[in-house]
Amino acid sequence: MAVLVTGGAGYIGSHMVWTLLDHGEEVVVLDDLSTGFRWAVPDGVEFVEGSVGDKSLVSGLIAEHDVDAVIHFAGSVVVPESVENPLKYYQNNTCNTRTLLETVVQSGIDKFIFSSTAAVYGEPMTSGPIREDAVLSPMSPYGSSKLMSEIMVRDAALSSDLRYVMLRYFNVAGADALGRAGCSAADATHLIKVACEAALGKRPSMTIYGDDYDTPDGTCVRDFIHVSDLVNAHYVALEFLRQGGLKFTANCGYSRGYSVKQVIDAVKKVSGRNFPVVSGPRRPGDIPSVIANAHRLMSRLSWQPRHDRLEEIVRDALAWEEKLSAQKQSA
Ligand code: UDP
Repeated sequence: MAVLVTGGAGYIGSHMVWTLLDHGEEVVVLDDLSTGFRWAVPDGVEFVEGSVGDKSLVSGLIAEHDVDAVIHFAGSVVVPESVENPLKYYQNNTCNTRTLLETVVQSGIDKFIFSSTAAVYGEPMTSGPIREDAVLSPMSPYGSSKLMSEIMVRDAALSSDLRYVMLRYFNVAGADALGRAGCSAADATHLIKVACEAALGKRPSMTIYGDDYDTPDGTCVRDFIHVSDLVNAHYVALEFLRQGGLKFTANCGYSRGYSVKQVIDAVKKVSGRNFPVVSGPRRPGDIPSVIANAHRLMSRLSWQPRHDRLEEIVRDALAWEEKLSAQKQSA
């Protein structure tokens, strides 16, 4: 029996593959390599290049590898890009997830774990931590594409044997502490990766997008979760489904926030390097404060954070960034 990981050559998916291997699981990776890397898939893991929307390909590999659970990461994840090219997001995230669900249900697979996002909430009504029962009102095509997928998963489960866990990610950052995986995307836009690149001189400076928000230091506040804790949440979700769990939706964060300025200070401190930081205008669509209420994940799935320190997240992200530089030099 194997676990199918879609998007397993990407940032979060590749960490998931390592965690599954660490638990002695058989893994099959399906990835179209649009943003992932073939080399990110560990040696010995079955890798198939292709789309989750390719029904015959997916049903074939489910049968061939005796897949009993699907963890679905594959998708497009850049919010500003989704505003410019919404139909790409509705195709890659919504339409392809619909086809994947159809294949999964028709193949008789009953365990499905879906990568969702805090973007399904849009601008929260309150400034405090967001609970799962908050209003769902996405502000970007990315968030809408994921919310539509959540609805499809829910409805498919109502009309079939499908059981599911949907995990809504807050700000995922960091890298595997053993240096086996990390965020390798070119043209990074995410704060911690951008700051690490600036610390290592890969970019001359970085910009703070707005320092006049109604937050303690004027910059936006986010709930940064270490990628290893995030994938561990998926592993406990898999156990929940294997033990007969029916359905579960939960936030993935630490119920606390750090500001953009605090993150930049942490990167300077951990790296021991100063770098130029420029104050710029607000980035369209940014919400001042986004913090998870992660109580449900901890209480119902007995998930325990193990890497909940900003310095640790930054340390691991920096180490991976250094590794990428070394790889480039030796190539
Ligand atoms: N940010 C920034 N400079 C950068 C990248 C990000 O000031 O070079 C800010 C961004 O405006 C937001 C926060 O950092 O307030 C987190 O942004 P990111 O893109 O990492 O994640 P998001 O919360 O948008 O998913």
